[in-house]
Amino acid sequence: MGARRICLGVPGPQAFEARRSLRRFAAGIWSFPPVAAGPITRRMKVLVTGAAGFIGYHVARRLAESKRCEVLGVDVIGDYYDPALKHARLAELAKVEDFRFVQGDFADSEKFSALVAHFKPAYVVHLGAQPGVRHSIEKPTAYTHSNLAGFASVLEACRRTPPKHLVFASSSSVYGAGAKAPFREDDNTDQPVSFYGATKKANEVIAHSYAHVHGLNLTGLRFFTVYGPWGRPDMAPTLFARAICEGTPLKLFNAGKNLRDFTYIDDIVDGVVKVLLYPPAARPTPPVRIFNLGHHRPVETVLFVKMLEQLLGKPAQIELLPPQTGDMFETCADLTRIQAAIGFAPKVPLEDGLRKFVAWFRGYYQL
Ligand code: NAD
Repeated sequence: MGARRICLGVPGPQAFEARRSLRRFAAGIWSFPPVAAGPITRRMKVLVTGAAGFIGYHVARRLAESKRCEVLGVDVIGDYYDPALKHARLAELAKVEDFRFVQGDFADSEKFSALVAHFKPAYVVHLGAQPGVRHSIEKPTAYTHSNLAGFASVLEACRRTPPKHLVFASSSSVYGAGAKAPFREDDNTDQPVSFYGATKKANEVIAHSYAHVHGLNLTGLRFFTVYGPWGRPDMAPTLFARAICEGTPLKLFNAGKNLRDFTYIDDIVDGVVKVLLYPPAARPTPPVRIFNLGHHRPVETVLFVKMLEQLLGKPAQIELLPPQTGDMFETCADLTRIQAAIGFAPKVPLEDGLRKFVAWFRGYYQL
């Protein structure tokens, strides 16, 4: 079944048509915090950008399956990686009753503002972006377009039609070369080591100005290496699993000693949804916050590969390489701030998450 599509140029009323009354929330998802943004209405309208992407797909799905939300996904379906995976995710979302989809570019300010004005979301989750540290060295213009112009366009649309809360994706990549793990939100992040990290840092700074000047409620989430079913093919889990299955050399930079705080997708979705319902306080500061959202248990990439070997039942052909430009040696999220604010704690151990990832990987790629 194809996702119900609407072109961004002509947002038709069918995108927003009334759906039948909604049932209770899915157990446990919405139970915290006790005092949310306000009374949770029977049908919260939530706009999710990047809904055909890895994290956006999972967030949109969780919200739509809660039966308490009317979710509108927006995505340009870019070709940074195989769009077939994005179409496959959308095909899954099309089975969920309370999900609608619009294909379009949120950097197109006039059209995106018109869409937001028409839909009038109570909440916005902005997950659309050009991701990838290494690619930002080769193709910075894609990052300027989606992460800078696109981000400004999303904020401007929300200034004109303010939601109760806009949550956006930042990244652990804002922490620069000198950062000491575990990374804390108030560490200095003025020296990111990649252009990708710089665009995410710019998002946080721009968000501050919109909160200060326009009173928009904003929260930026610094995600730490997200993995799981439907994951991005340019990221370590899929690259490594494919190399192991196909018997091709698997490149480990910094001789496999880089430490990564791998965070399972369900933990990320839990964090996004809880944060979404709990906007920042308007006073005494501008209503903007930044939270780390990670696992707080970094592992060496070489150990990560060993775990994948076990789950896939095949040895890896490991090629040890020197450190790469733009890479960080270690990432690790200090979770004190998000724990204090919304009671977030990651639940999924790496072994369990990887098992679920491998099951999906084998099924999807038939490897
Ligand atoms: P993804 O590439 O799978 O999803 C992003 C989606 O945004 C894509 O489907 C893409 O087509 C869409 N998009 C890009 N530019 C657009 C535009 N101008 N208009 C409309 N759609 C556009 O990436 P992801 O892993 O799901 O990442 C989601 C967010 O989380 C991104 O902001 C990313 O930078 C951030 N993040 C991800 C990770 C991770 O480990 N996956 C870590 C840190 C931060």
